[in-house]
Amino acid sequence: MAERILILGGTREAADLAAALTAGGHDVTTSLAGRTREPLPVAGRVRTGGFGGADGLARFLQSEGFTRLVDATHPFAPRISANALAAAKAVGLPLEVRLRPPWSATTDDDWHHVADIPRAVAALAAGERVLLALGSQHITPFAARSDIHFVVRMVDAPSEALPLPDHQVVLGRPSADPGREAELLRRHRIDRIVCRNSGGEGAFAKLLAARALRLRVTMIDRPGSGG
Ligand code: NAP
Repeated sequence: MAERILILGGTREAADLAAALTAGGHDVTTSLAGRTREPLPVAGRVRTGGFGGADGLARFLQSEGFTRLVDATHPFAPRISANALAAAKAVGLPLEVRLRPPWSATTDDDWHHVADIPRAVAALAAGERVLLALGSQHITPFAARSDIHFVVRMVDAPSEALPLPDHQVVLGRPSADPGREAELLRRHRIDRIVCRNSGGEGAFAKLLAARALRLRVTMIDRPGSGG
């Protein structure tokens, strides 16, 4: 039977799920926070912007008559996931959580695990050239490191100058091709990548490129991962 499904999205996996469920004849709405100016196309309906907390999400679920809620948000987006849990409970809908499994290193990788951004800032060695593969809202703490050249990859151009003393911005989404990622790392003479353990296939190519080029990776682990 066709269902009315709300997917909390903003990830490639959520878009893939929307395509599959829509093709299966379901009435699918994907919700985006609205952070990206030109989000990738998504099958089915799309609504954009916050709900106004768990209560707002609960009201939306009820007023729109959804029969299923899927949390397919990014693993480092904790507030919307907590809201999904609370809202599903409040309205008595089952919550399906589809968070990407984390990546893990092989013996050919040189990953240094840290628990959070401040520890990632402290882990950098003076004089390094560092690719920051992080959301724009996580850049500011790195401003303390005037001894580092940062290359910051962003999907959208920043609306104001970044606070980093020595940096350049590379615009665009990560490539899924490790060869192209390696070319970017070589062109900018990168010594180290700083990223979060987001998981998923889309952003893994940079780590395959780092492996091939034998670069250091500072991996910010997920909250509560113990690593
Ligand atoms: P967050 O801290 O968990 O959420 C902050 C607030 O943004 C939420 O309380 C909610 O506002 C709104 N929001 C978040 N996701 C939403 C969604 N899918 N639909 C409607 N409202 C949403 O999340 P975030 O780190 O700001 O990330 C925002 C979105 O970007 C997430 O949906 C995530 O899947 C996607 N994303 C995040 C990252 C990342 O690195 N964090 C990377 C890639 C994609 P209200 O309380 O007003 O409802």
